[in-house]
Amino acid sequence: MLLTSAQKKTLNKVYPSVQKIVELSHLSGAEILMTIMDSKPAMADAIFLDAKLQSNLKEISNYAETAGLCLAISKYKYIVNSPQGIFKEVAISDSHPGKIILALAPTKDKARKGADYYHAKMIDGRFGYKFGKLMGYPECCLKFGTYLNNQDSNPDNFGFKNPAIESLKRSNHFDWHLNVFTISLLPHYPCSFTCAKSIKYVERLLMYMDYVNKEQSSFLKDYLKTPISLYWTCADRILLYGDLKRTSLTTGEVKYNKIEPMLNSNTFYQEVDKNKFAEWHKVEGALKEGNRLVVTDKKCSVYKGRECLLNINKANKYVPDLV
Ligand SMILES: [Zn+2]
Repeated sequence: MLLTSAQKKTLNKVYPSVQKIVELSHLSGAEILMTIMDSKPAMADAIFLDAKLQSNLKEISNYAETAGLCLAISKYKYIVNSPQGIFKEVAISDSHPGKIILALAPTKDKARKGADYYHAKMIDGRFGYKFGKLMGYPECCLKFGTYLNNQDSNPDNFGFKNPAIESLKRSNHFDWHLNVFTISLLPHYPCSFTCAKSIKYVERLLMYMDYVNKEQSSFLKDYLKTPISLYWTCADRILLYGDLKRTSLTTGEVKYNKIEPMLNSNTFYQEVDKNKFAEWHKVEGALKEGNRLVVTDKKCSVYKGRECLLNINKANKYVPDLV
């Protein structure tokens, strides 16, 4: 894959606006870039609405226009629960903290649909397919998305099945481009960690990034390739730097020299299961003290040399994973 001169021209022109939109909205710069470059038809995400975002909306819309995109905003605000992941909608003027949906697309109609379909899928998971189709997700991953719907309302299923872990169950190994366990460059969850269409998407994105921001592109590639992840949910993981001795795709032993906690459920969601969150922080504390982590199907143990600092039983053999 090589950039054409027309693509280079567009990238030069739009990239400053992309950076401004990211700064003002906290939307994903990768997705904005892919939407502008016509590598995906539209994008939408739910963003925490604070006074700053409220006052930035007009400016976000202006920068989007400069980059050839239209902005649409949801008509409601949403309170998101964890671990259920269920959206409760309230009026935008409601005083409870919550998220709003921002959608960007080359036409007004598509952007409006982006915000509306996102709303529909969060209220009822069966709309996920329609939303994903509009966002340009690969058909194989869309089918996988439908499978993720949590029809039986199991409260441990996060509103839907834990997508990264369901992907893992379907994979024999994984390609570094699709490493959603560190920082994902994909807007969707891949049907497996060797999904060819998803790999192509990331390759294309990295090609654009290499051209507009080589430094950030190397930084992203490093994240995809280097750290080992102790993974609970899309908002909660602890990255470890060191040597991984794998026993299965989801378990193993790691001798590490540095950790990078990313436990964000408390800010990602408006309501959090405090017991789970406290346990993850306990693991974080032990990891800071220790230098070796062993994850089996049943247990998660932290050691300092031979001394065991923490031993917790896993409720499910897949949570947490060591990847
Ligand atoms: Zn796929």
